Amino acid sequence: MSTPHWLFGDQLGPSFAAPAAGGPGRHSPLLMIESRAVFRRRRFHRAKAHLILSAMRHRAAELGDRVTYIKADTYRDGLEDCLGGGRVTVHHPTSRAALSLVSSMNNVTVLPARGFLLGQDEFAGWARAGEGRGLRLEAFYRHVRQEHEILMDGDRPAGGTWNLDHDNREPPPRGAATLEAPPPYRPREDDIDAEVRHDLDRWERAGDVSFVGHDGPRLFPADRREALAALRRFIEYRLAAFGAYEDAMLAADPTMSHSLLSSSLNLGLLDPAECVERAEAAWRAGDAPLNSVEGFIRQIAGWREYVWHLYWYFGESYRASNTLRHHAPLPAWWTDLDADALTARCLSTVIRQVGETGWTHHIPRLMVLGSYALQRGWDPAAVTDWFHRCFIDGYDWVMLPNVVGMSQYADGGRMTTKPYTSGGAYIDHMSDLCGSCRYRPDRRVGPDACPFTAGYWAFMDRHRRLLARNARTSAQVHGLDRLVDLPDLVRQDRARGAAPP
Ligand SMILES: Cc1cc2nc3c(=O)[nH]c(=O)nc-3n(C[C@H](O)[C@H](O)[C@H](O)COP(=O)(O)OP(=O)(O)OC[C@H]3O[C@@H](n4cnc5c(N)ncnc54)[C@H](O)[C@@H]3O)c2cc1C
Ligand code: SF4
Repeated sequence: MSTPHWLFGDQLGPSFAAPAAGGPGRHSPLLMIESRAVFRRRRFHRAKAHLILSAMRHRAAELGDRVTYIKADTYRDGLEDCLGGGRVTVHHPTSRAALSLVSSMNNVTVLPARGFLLGQDEFAGWARAGEGRGLRLEAFYRHVRQEHEILMDGDRPAGGTWNLDHDNREPPPRGAATLEAPPPYRPREDDIDAEVRHDLDRWERAGDVSFVGHDGPRLFPADRREALAALRRFIEYRLAAFGAYEDAMLAADPTMSHSLLSSSLNLGLLDPAECVERAEAAWRAGDAPLNSVEGFIRQIAGWREYVWHLYWYFGESYRASNTLRHHAPLPAWWTDLDADALTARCLSTVIRQVGETGWTHHIPRLMVLGSYALQRGWDPAAVTDWFHRCFIDGYDWVMLPNVVGMSQYADGGRMTTKPYTSGGAYIDHMSDLCGSCRYRPDRRVGPDACPFTAGYWAFMDRHRRLLARNARTSAQVHGLDRLVDLPDLVRQDRARGAAPP
């Protein structure tokens, strides 16, 4: 009999069970382990726990007799129960903890990773070739496009340009409450979801686990059929408007024209290659403009791949990066997702979205949540852990570079050229959030002072020595000297502390 093959809970698409060099075989028995300890250790968003369990159980139902589905306390227990010391194969897991677990078991053979466009060797080759120039996204993205012939006309980028970012930074249409894009695909719950909800209720009642956030109805795909329907709907109806407004925020329209495909990609239900190919085909057929298609492909073939490879490339020590020496704990209103405690409209709107759905698009993550945490000097490891637990698409590999590097600048610029943070003027320009807020984005001091505007200058002041040495922030540091009210601003910012803004 052929060696059984183990599927982790984020390896749920067909490519993870397909025959590969060295296994699994075409008819290899499959093994899935639902570990209760994963949920007991940390306080996850309940919608995330629901989605993962629902997706695993949907996959098991699809696979029928081919799979043995084990509910165990830990992965090690599950493997022992099912196989004794027998051999098993598994595709390279997506976290260092899981990789170290499977590597420590001498009956487990680890096969190459799936679910990404580039292998680790290709990335390492690219990184070595560019040594000294820094690992910048733009150079990596062009490499992927060229080497994998994505959106290329021969050796030239389709449309003659690599980067259409300047077309993709529009503020929301003036006066519009919503983008009026056709709504995204939403799945219909079934008996498996009812069973998952029942189990989660039971575990919570028994005091086994504790969750945060609302659970339901399920908003994101749990199986391949649903994920393909979501991809189709995005490409046909929503891709065209993706580009121009991808950085804009509207209070009443959290999804705008975003794809909502991250959880399906990260569960392995969709392959990045099929997403990119379908987007390119839509442009070639004249169904979507180049700025939207390039913008979307940049997210998947650029950012997603870059983040995955940086996670492995930077090594385990990256997790503890804390260049800015930020050590403040996260306040309870944040960890409890207590939007009602907040007056700042941007934060209350976004925290409410996270509480209700476990999702917001990239600008609320970066320029509202991440920027606020950075300005307040919160511990980057705690911020990373919070994002991981509270977002339906959060996994260790995607959170570490995005939070430690991109949003908290804890790596001192290995990933980005400057800290991503701003005053209220940016949020005001890119959203409709400030209009009815109790604070004013142009006030730095006084009861109406916008927490982001005051927080921005207080942050620049705290780190002025470091930021003065950075060509991309030195002008703002010089700007500090022109602020006559800086001492008052800093005093007020300190007094505000961790109180809900
Ligand atoms: C602080 C912070 C935390 C983030 N945490 C996560 C996370 O836990 N999981 C996650 O998948 N993405 C994360 N992102 C990236 C991005 O915000 C989400 O992928 C995106 O908002 C998901 O919504 P969407 O599917 O509609 O994406 P779209 O805007 O439609 O983009 C298309 C796809 O591109 C990919 N993508 C785009 N940017 C990134 C990126 N920086 N890293 C990885 N993939 C990217 C995603 O797969 C996404 O589905 C984070 C970004 C920031 C700034
Ligand atoms: S004024 Fe400041 S706190 Fe209020 S919504 Fe705008 S940026 Fe947020």
